[in-house]
Amino acid sequence: MGRNREEIIKDAEDSILHTYNRFPVVFDHGRGVYLYDTDGREYLDFGAGIAVSALGYGNEEYGAAVKAQVDKLLHISNLYYNEPVAEAAKLLTEAAGMERVFFTNSGTEAVEGAVKAAKKYAYLRDGHAGHEIIAMNHSFHGRSLGALSVTGNAHYREPFEPLLPGVRFAEFNQLESVKALINERTCAIILETVQGEGGIYPATAEFLEGVRALCNAHDILLILDEIQCGMGRCGAMFAWQRYGVKPDIMTAAKALGCGVPVGAFLMTERVAKRSLAPGDHGTTYGGNPLAGAVVTTVLKMMERDDVTGHVNEVAPYLEQKLDELAASFDFVTERRGLGLMQGLVCKKPVGEIAAQALSGELIVLTAGSDVLRFVPPLIIEKEHIDEMAEKLSAVFRAVGKI
Ligand SMILES: *Cc1c(COP(=O)(O)O)cnc(C)c1O
Repeated sequence: MGRNREEIIKDAEDSILHTYNRFPVVFDHGRGVYLYDTDGREYLDFGAGIAVSALGYGNEEYGAAVKAQVDKLLHISNLYYNEPVAEAAKLLTEAAGMERVFFTNSGTEAVEGAVKAAKKYAYLRDGHAGHEIIAMNHSFHGRSLGALSVTGNAHYREPFEPLLPGVRFAEFNQLESVKALINERTCAIILETVQGEGGIYPATAEFLEGVRALCNAHDILLILDEIQCGMGRCGAMFAWQRYGVKPDIMTAAKALGCGVPVGAFLMTERVAKRSLAPGDHGTTYGGNPLAGAVVTTVLKMMERDDVTGHVNEVAPYLEQKLDELAASFDFVTERRGLGLMQGLVCKKPVGEIAAQALSGELIVLTAGSDVLRFVPPLIIEKEHIDEMAEKLSAVFRAVGKI
């Protein structure tokens, strides 16, 4: 018999660096869109491990592919070729309509690479360094120092300053504020196609098109961070494909590995030819055979099962159910989102609502200070949306009385 919940939590709290305030639940295993804790309680999961577990839990085909590669070959370094990553690179660049990819181990590393690629491009263009990047307020791009430098949350940045110099923050969805920051040193504009952590804000079509036009006019590279909104979640393989606004460089991670840590940054051939070259960038683990097999499996399964088609079928139903909840409870002021990336804006503490939901065996996330975030596995069905809405309305009724 394993140890009980309290013992496990105590061990964790005794030794793990305290950078998270965790919910007091210990998950043991998962199946489909449900997670099970060590006491055998079943939770409906609308968080997917923060938009990671797109295929749900316990998928046998995925598990078998991972296990087969574990037994065959895990790692060789990037000094040699391996077949799984060659296949993954082909499939991912095709899915993204980009020509070149670099595999990383996480999202934040993908952003680091994207920023380095843009800096190198401008360095070669101008014959000198010292370039600037425009990022967005309320953005989130990761916790490593470069990605943190372009993250539009002063609270996250402040203790670690000075960070990357030359980063300027514009207002998301306000083209004039971006325009005002452009100068001859600007090398890149980075943004999330749909802002995630900052509160689930989809870019408007006019904004994205306007930013693209500004980039074209000034030879500035557009970097789209698709780490959360990509991989089918918004009803296209990458959210930008819904807008028809193509970036020069993009990032992916989270659902790219569906549980195995993998990230990537991709770029067009035009940028690749005038950017990172041998010696400019590297990684020991990134794109190893395991990561390659995982990405290949995820992409093939998503394509075969028409995951984006499924998202487009169920997402309107999720929107409808969330709209109904918003209409029934005064403290819910707005729903916004794209596809299976949705948020409810609440005038009550969302951390408390998420905790109450967890007690009711429903997992939801928060984003920003006032948004409940819904990023379920992409395999959810309407019946799961009904179950979520029922559970959440019970929580909302209790919370409404606070
Ligand atoms: C999660 C996230 C990241 C960081 O990814 P990690 O794997 O946690 O480093 C970067 N950008 C966006 C948009 C994200 O949602």
